[in-house]
Amino acid sequence: MLSNPAATEGDRPQVRPQAEGWKQQTTDDGRPLLQFKQPRVAQPKTHLADLTLAERQAKVAELGFPAFRAKQLSNHYFNHFTSDPDRMTDLPKDAREKLVAEMMPPLLTEVRRLTTDNGDTIKFLWRLFDGALVESVLMRYPGRVTLCVSSQAGCGMNCPFCATGQNGLTRNMSTAEIVEQVVRANEVIAEGALGGLRRDGGHNAERVTNIVFMGMGEPLANYKRVIASVRRMVDPAPEGLGMSARHITVSTVGLVPAINRLAEEGIPVTFALSLHAPDDELRDELIPVNSRWKADEAIDAAYNYFVKTGRRVSIEYALIKDMNDHAWRADLLGKKLNARGRGWVHVNPIPLNPTPGSIWTSSDPDVTDEFINRLEAAGIPTTLRDTRGKEIDGACGQLAAEGTRRRTGP
Ligand code: SF4
Repeated sequence: MLSNPAATEGDRPQVRPQAEGWKQQTTDDGRPLLQFKQPRVAQPKTHLADLTLAERQAKVAELGFPAFRAKQLSNHYFNHFTSDPDRMTDLPKDAREKLVAEMMPPLLTEVRRLTTDNGDTIKFLWRLFDGALVESVLMRYPGRVTLCVSSQAGCGMNCPFCATGQNGLTRNMSTAEIVEQVVRANEVIAEGALGGLRRDGGHNAERVTNIVFMGMGEPLANYKRVIASVRRMVDPAPEGLGMSARHITVSTVGLVPAINRLAEEGIPVTFALSLHAPDDELRDELIPVNSRWKADEAIDAAYNYFVKTGRRVSIEYALIKDMNDHAWRADLLGKKLNARGRGWVHVNPIPLNPTPGSIWTSSDPDVTDEFINRLEAAGIPTTLRDTRGKEIDGACGQLAAEGTRRRTGP
C-alpha cells in the first residue's frame, strides 16, 4: 500500500485506499490478510430450515412421530413465520414442545432494531447461539420489499473501507441462520411493524420479495450453506419460502472459482460483482482478494455467468471521491465490459455518504454525472443505486461492530 494517501495523478488527485481508525491485519510480507478458514467452526443445532422436506420427514420419524408432522411444522415456519408451539394448534399438545425443541432450535435473538425512512427501513442486530453478532436490513420500496441478509459472522476479505472486515472472520452462518433472517423479517412485516399500515389494506399478503446477499460476510466464501439457503428460499412452501430466484441477488468481491460454480448450479439468481475499480493497481488495495483473482478474471467469470445462465449481471461500483471516480476509469470499465460483448451487464454506481475529513467520502455530483455519462456513452446501461438506511449508518457491519465494542468494552 502506498504511504502517501493523495499522490497526484494527472490533474485529478489519486487518493489511495487506507483503513481509517483501525489497522488492517497483514501477512508476514505486509499484504492484507485474507481469511478463508473460519476460526470458529461450531454450528447451531440442526434446524428444519437446514434440511430438505424429505430429510425433515426422516428426522421426525426418527424422533418417533408420524412423518407428516414435518409438513405441519414446515407450514408453521415457512407460511406463518412462527416457531411458537402454542400457535401450532393442529399438532397434539404433548408433541409440540418436543418437536419444536428438536426441529426448530432458537437461532437469532434480536439485540437491537433501528427504524428509519419513515418506518420503511428497519435494521436488525441479531445475536447467534454462540454470541456472534450479525445484521440484516429490511427495506420497503414501491412494489417490493427487500431484505439485505448476512451470510457470515464477520468477514475474512479485509476490505479497508468495511466495518465488517475489521475483526476478520468469526464463522460461517448455517443455512438455517441465513434463512431465519427472512422468516423473522416476514414475521415483523406480518405484525405491521414495517412502515405502518399499508394504504391498500393490511399486511397479510405482504412479505419479503427480494433478497440481496450484501450484509455481513462474503457469500461465496460460505458457498455450500449460501446455496442451500437460496434453495430453501425458492423451494415452494411448505418446503421453503416459495420466492423467485430472479429476485435473489448473490454478490461477491470476486471469488472466481465460486462464481464459475454458481453458474453451473441451475438456479437463476441475479449475480452481482462488487468491482469498485477496473484497474488492478487500485483494486489490489481496495479489494484485497484482487491479489488472488485479478479484475479481468473476475469480469471474465461474471461474463461466464451470463453465458451459462442468460441472466444479465450487475457490476457494483461504490463511487469514492478522488479514489475510483476518475473519468478514465469509467472509460476503462466500459471498454473492459464491451470487450466481452454487448447486453450482458449493467453497472450500478453506489453513492457513498458524505463523510467530511474522511478519504472514504462521496464523489462530487458533477463527477458522479460524468462517470455515469461516460458509461452510458459506451453503451453500458447504468443506474445510480438508491441507498437506504443512511440515517442509521454508512457501511455494512457498523451496528455489529458497535455491539461488539459494547459487549467487550469496560
Ligand atoms: S466489503 Fe464485503 S467482502 Fe469486503 S470485508 Fe466487507 S463484508 Fe467482507
